[in-house]
Amino acid sequence: MEKRNSLHLAKRMASLEPSATLAMAAKAASMAASGIDVIDLSVGEPDFPTPAHICQAAEAAIRSGKTKYTPAAGIPDLRKAVAADYSRRSGLTVTPAQVVVSNGAKHSLHNAFMALLDDGDEVIVPAPYWVSYAELIKLCGGRPMLIETSIDDDFKLRPEALRAALGPRTRMLLLCSPSNPTGVVYTPDELRALADIAIEADLAVIADEIYDQLVYDGRQSPSFPTLRPGLAERTVVVAGVSKTYSMTGWRIGWTICPEPLSKAIGNLQSQQTSNPCSVSQHAAVAALTGPQDCVGEMLAAFQNRRDLVVGCLSKMPGLRLPEIGGAFYAFFDIKDALRRGQSRGIGTSSQWCEALLEKEHVALVAGSAFGAEGHVRMSFAASEQKLKDGLARIERFLTS
Ligand code: PMP
Ligand code: GLU
Repeated sequence: MEKRNSLHLAKRMASLEPSATLAMAAKAASMAASGIDVIDLSVGEPDFPTPAHICQAAEAAIRSGKTKYTPAAGIPDLRKAVAADYSRRSGLTVTPAQVVVSNGAKHSLHNAFMALLDDGDEVIVPAPYWVSYAELIKLCGGRPMLIETSIDDDFKLRPEALRAALGPRTRMLLLCSPSNPTGVVYTPDELRALADIAIEADLAVIADEIYDQLVYDGRQSPSFPTLRPGLAERTVVVAGVSKTYSMTGWRIGWTICPEPLSKAIGNLQSQQTSNPCSVSQHAAVAALTGPQDCVGEMLAAFQNRRDLVVGCLSKMPGLRLPEIGGAFYAFFDIKDALRRGQSRGIGTSSQWCEALLEKEHVALVAGSAFGAEGHVRMSFAASEQKLKDGLARIERFLTS
């Protein structure tokens, strides 16, 4: 009998892909470390420092000994602050018991899938989708059902497409608005049409609202459960401080959902990670309860950058992009460039990104990582100067 490696991987790991966004950022960072002038527009991470009053709250927490285990679902002050902030902004009343604080919104998503999915349960995921959704669903035994959307529809899931995707094993619908990777924001009416089908088909809904405060031109991005009566009972809202307060490294996100489920997620977490970082939780309390000017200031900067990026990209030959209403991504169609690049061995979005990185030292993420070959994603969470340089290099690459 052939001897197996005693550290052979479990079946669930066999198809697990590493995060393409983080992989590209790591590659760009290692090129930069070797002295190359790389412009990294790959990862979606605000470039602003975490506001000073938030850092000071963390320092105070350390000095006053808040450095021990906390309750598994988060410190009472933070659960209270999340519930109060969400209730105030959404108009729905939620209690602190409905909030579970986790190690970033990515962890919150994983918790929600773990708590809700049985083996073989299908989750409808509109594509393009954020890289981690499909992998996390699979890790939890679920099956991501990727539903293609079109740039002509601004990459929005249409009600007919949702209806057509329903089957006997459909358990859940996953929505992300404002969207990573497309930057598109659904209107309340568009979300209501999807909500009606979710209610009719008795689906659970994961509403990833991590970019809900990053919306442009005075748009509103109402929380999904506010759109129809009865939605709150079937929805898990996922959000956090990473994007709104430029706190990606602090690792604080949360789920908001009805109490029996939130208790289960808390129990899961008590076995899994004990609790989110205690110091970070105190920082997050300061983020939510302190002055909010920083949010408006960063939003204004992101909107200016959006204008700059859209202005430049839309003038470049053959590129197409949807209307960017929120988040900080431009997701553009490069099929025309790929047709022209074929003869030089640049026929896929991933080859295109590799060639761009090699020739012009600009890091973007291939659309294939988001389930949308023929596109690429650019993060505009970078300084205006970097964006201008990066855009000039992209244009040179396109016309070379
Ligand atoms: N959801 C979306 C749509 C995101 O873009 C991100 C960013 N990584 C996350 C969740 C996870 O956020 P966090 O950094 O808080 O884990
Ligand atoms: N959400 C960001 C992105 O899409 C951060 C990286 C990640 O967590 O994947 O780039």
